[in-house]
Amino acid sequence: MRKISIFGATGSIGQNTIDLIDRQPSAYNVVALTGAANIEKLAKDARRLNADVAVTAYENRLEDLRAALSGSGVEAAAGQAALTEAAMRPADWVMSAIVGAAGLQPGLEALKQGATLALANKETLVCAGALVLETAKRHNARLLPVDSEHSAVFQALVGEDIETVERIIITASGGAFRDWPQRDLANATVEQASSHPNWDMGQRITIDSASMFNKALEMIETKEFFGTSPDQIEVLIHPESIVHSLVGFKDGAVMAHMGAPDMRHAIGYALHWPERQELPVERLNLAELGQLTFQEPDEDRYPALRLARNVMERGGLSGTVFNAAKERALDLFIARQVGFLQMAEIVESVLIKFETSNGLLDAELNLDNVLQADHLARKWASEAAIQKAG
Ligand code: NDP
Repeated sequence: MRKISIFGATGSIGQNTIDLIDRQPSAYNVVALTGAANIEKLAKDARRLNADVAVTAYENRLEDLRAALSGSGVEAAAGQAALTEAAMRPADWVMSAIVGAAGLQPGLEALKQGATLALANKETLVCAGALVLETAKRHNARLLPVDSEHSAVFQALVGEDIETVERIIITASGGAFRDWPQRDLANATVEQASSHPNWDMGQRITIDSASMFNKALEMIETKEFFGTSPDQIEVLIHPESIVHSLVGFKDGAVMAHMGAPDMRHAIGYALHWPERQELPVERLNLAELGQLTFQEPDEDRYPALRLARNVMERGGLSGTVFNAAKERALDLFIARQVGFLQMAEIVESVLIKFETSNGLLDAELNLDNVLQADHLARKWASEAAIQKAG
């Protein structure tokens, strides 16, 4: 039996992972399941899967979790230290599906135990790519991509020499506002931004898809994961979300990965890798689809893409700052304190402030410096928002 843990078990990726585990319960021994606010769901799954421990990120919810687990034999724990402790428990395969930079530390801890880390949490590589890769190497641990685009690229690269790759083309659905006139974007509401045309995902990534911050994070994740240079990474809008990404090789060949928009595809590939096993996903009928369409994104319309290029070129701690400022700007948008287009303005102003503050972006890439830069970027993003409101 494989020992597995799921960080972010109550979220969209976590639940899709559990759906796959549920189909072969005798194959898995569940070590840890984690969540945050959703105590009932966490306890219900931890009971059914007979997990060793269930952890909520919120310390003040420990008693609720204990009560929900009472009599089950599943240990209850809460808080950041408990999340780290859960990641230190030996597991063969760990799903990293916490949303945001909060996923970084548990992921690093799991790698230190030599686990295979299935990485849905793109923020891990955006915030601390070199540190994460170096930790994986040092502890003989493996990272497998779960983001559908990176899973697609990973699959297209099987048996290929990375040196023969000319370019990586990651596709984007265009999100909720792909057909909106630019002039309407300033007044886009949280509700409008929270509905995705093709994918059923958590609210934060859905809004990030509408602003293309999600694609911006994925560009940086691509650079870190595959070690490509920024100018080898292209973004293509593909409204049907059938081609998940493409790899172009030196000889002109382009390998595309296709599938129905269902995250169980990428999760299942990472779960069963290096094998392929049958998955409960819809089969493609290309004749029925008739056509697939592609268009180049307009970087004026999506400033997040331009900022991501700057971040990839700049390196250092700029990925940490970009992500943290984006997370804070998104909090403020969800709280209706800033407008949709102001998110990118806030992120850009924070990046500029770091760039012009002597050496801040060039501090060594270790966990302490990442956490400090993350904290400061959130603070400066809040200040930038207040200035805009004033
Ligand atoms: P959700 O919002 O659906 O779920 C997030 C999970 O993280 C939940 O389990 C949530 O707990 C938990 N969580 C929230 N805040 C914290 C915190 N501060 N500390 C610890 N845990 C926390 O997100 P998704 O499943 O959509 O996304 C998860 C990650 O996967 C993100 O990084 C996203 O970018 C990435 N991803 C998602 C895809 C998708 O299809 N959804 C596709 C590709 C990548 P609770 O719900 O109990 O509050």
